[in-house]
Amino acid sequence: MNWRVTLADLAYTSEEEQAVLEVVKNRWLTMGKETETFEREFVDCVGSKYAVAVSNGTVALHLACLSLGIGPGDEVVVPALSFVASSNSVLHTGAKVRFVDIQSLNELNISPAKIEAAITPETKAIMVMHYGGYPCRMDAILEIAERHNLAVIEDAAHAHGAALHGKNLGCWGDVGCFSFFSNKNLATGEGGMLVTDREDIAEKVRLLRSHGMTSLTWDRHKGRSYNYDVIDLGFNYRIDEIRSALGRVQLKKLGNHNRRRKEITEEYWEHLRHLGLGLPFENYAGESSHHIFPILLPDDVDRMGFIKKMHTEGIQTSIHYTPIHHFQYYRERYPEVNLPLTEEAASREVTLPLYPSMRDEDVRLVIDTVRATLTSMT
Ligand SMILES: *Cc1c(COP(=O)(O)O)cnc(C)c1O
Repeated sequence: MNWRVTLADLAYTSEEEQAVLEVVKNRWLTMGKETETFEREFVDCVGSKYAVAVSNGTVALHLACLSLGIGPGDEVVVPALSFVASSNSVLHTGAKVRFVDIQSLNELNISPAKIEAAITPETKAIMVMHYGGYPCRMDAILEIAERHNLAVIEDAAHAHGAALHGKNLGCWGDVGCFSFFSNKNLATGEGGMLVTDREDIAEKVRLLRSHGMTSLTWDRHKGRSYNYDVIDLGFNYRIDEIRSALGRVQLKKLGNHNRRRKEITEEYWEHLRHLGLGLPFENYAGESSHHIFPILLPDDVDRMGFIKKMHTEGIQTSIHYTPIHHFQYYRERYPEVNLPLTEEAASREVTLPLYPSMRDEDVRLVIDTVRATLTSMT
């Protein structure tokens, strides 16, 4: 398919190409100087005490759960309107999830009141996901967590550079997890970052990231260490130098990219406002990273018909998300889940193209095509 406007696009220039070449020339490919620097620069950007780079966002979430001691017999409260990795990471520890509904059709983030209602004696943690980079109600969520003595994990895969009351998303809970998958605001192909203010968590995650070993190949190369012990049952969840170098370039550009995403989002809101669509987050609190642009179609518009007509006009759209509890694997294990708002939002949602290199005429084309498509269908 030759799309006229794709859903997302990499915001890469010759800077990224140059960064990769430098790593190749320097002949050190796995975790080393680039990764250490990337972690330091990430800390400077988000304002956490620690940042640990890992191979993707999913393992960041897995390590977040493990470092908080979550395991068999425990429960974690999770959003159902998220990518499946959020809840998979909990199940991989042997714990169970409790799916919670969203706040409203306008605010597609997890509802604090419904979190509280889902807490049981087995609950160990609350996981939130900042949909599209729009902040969850962190004040209320932290207050609930404190009252029930629960940990808070932020799935910040959409939220690079987003903030609430001046504090970056990812830094509100005990642990924040970022993804650098190709379509994210900061893209390295595969890659992720775990941030925390807690030294015990940072230490545990560094160990688990690399086989529970007390020193890295890099430390031995630098003469900092000659041998290692293995003191935990770890994984190979490491990132490599090429991706860290890409991440450093992308981090530098993040502010500009997010500003362009915001401009496009506001253009969409302005011109799509009176078409009978739901425009979630239009009056959100905080500073979003505007990762994706969701709309909710009117009740009487057939979604697949709409998506196909957009496709015919050369415009790629997507759906965020099929609720996790609707997937077969989860249906079999969590048959009782019933989340009316999540299910309604998920059944009407369509995601429009949004990426920093979108030209003004691309944005106008999407707006005009949405308008014409809706008119032809109602
Ligand atoms: C992308 C994403 C992840 C997973 O990140 P990967 O780097 O692809 O493993 C997790 N949660 C959400 C909400 C995501 O969008």
